[in-house]
Amino acid sequence: MHTRGLPEKIRASLGSAVVLGLTKAALDAEPTTIYLLTFLSSKCSANCGFCPQARKSRGRADMLSRVTWPVFPTERVVSRIQHAVKKGAVERVCIQALNYPTVFEDVENIVREVLSRVNVPISISCQPMNREEIRKLAEVGVERICVPLDATTEELFNKVKGRLAGGPYVWEEQRRSLKEAVHIFGKGSVSTHLIVGLGETEEEAVRAIQWCVDLGVYPGLFAFTPIRGTTLETRARPSISHYRTIQIAHSLITDRRTRCEEMYFSKEGAIKDFGIPIKHLEQTVRTGKPFLTSGCPGCNRPYYNERPGGPIYNYPRHPQSEEIAEIKEQISALDA
Ligand code: SF4
Repeated sequence: MHTRGLPEKIRASLGSAVVLGLTKAALDAEPTTIYLLTFLSSKCSANCGFCPQARKSRGRADMLSRVTWPVFPTERVVSRIQHAVKKGAVERVCIQALNYPTVFEDVENIVREVLSRVNVPISISCQPMNREEIRKLAEVGVERICVPLDATTEELFNKVKGRLAGGPYVWEEQRRSLKEAVHIFGKGSVSTHLIVGLGETEEEAVRAIQWCVDLGVYPGLFAFTPIRGTTLETRARPSISHYRTIQIAHSLITDRRTRCEEMYFSKEGAIKDFGIPIKHLEQTVRTGKPFLTSGCPGCNRPYYNERPGGPIYNYPRHPQSEEIAEIKEQISALDA
């Protein structure tokens, strides 16, 4: 018997749909997480400047970041997830939620249906929810919750997601919701997303990462990607050097090998010293680990931010030795 109120349709990222056998396409890298997006025939009620799903976006409704999300019957998707998890092809399911009045019920019902069939870690990425709703998600078996801050400072948040963007989100409420989520899910079981390239300095990005880590929230890094039809469609992507520098700082801070206060910044906010010996910094770069997609365990988001031809901001699999050599050339901090 199916969960009552299960939404009829759901979107799956193209890569996820291929892994599930719902469609065919050539993939440069397979996702290790199945990414789902709640289906709405209209647009999201929020208005984030980078998002093609935003209320005022003229972007394609089947896109999120630079990935397409075809629609499928929910029942079919869930049944394919059941098989894929049993085959060991999937490490996690991530349900991303648009903002609309009945989204909480939809997410809850999708989670119930998946978990009634198969045991798989589920992440929910959603608008800030209240304490009761977060608690309910924990009770129905959600493993991790993600409340995306997206911007690294309050000013940028207001411009791209909040009041100045015509959106409903408030920086302090978003941060409060993360604190509630940590209270209920526990330290280490809550994520957020931080988009690099919205106009932040390296110092601002590092302060945001440190705030998350101190709270017990894992920040996943995204590179800003301009999408046609969105408010920010003409904004440039971040320079690869800026992104690599923040990836290194992110890796060192999340591994607790340095802290924001131990780092040194120029007066323009550029990182001048990561707070660890240069030898250790070079070793860290050589591992390639800082440049992997960051987020919930098992989340590799292939080509969310990049064209397969590059530059690759987040590697969905371990970078090869020639790629690490190329990465080294992209990092101006190593010249210091
Ligand atoms: S980090 Fe990955 S799995 Fe976690 S919420 Fe974000 S997209 Fe989903």
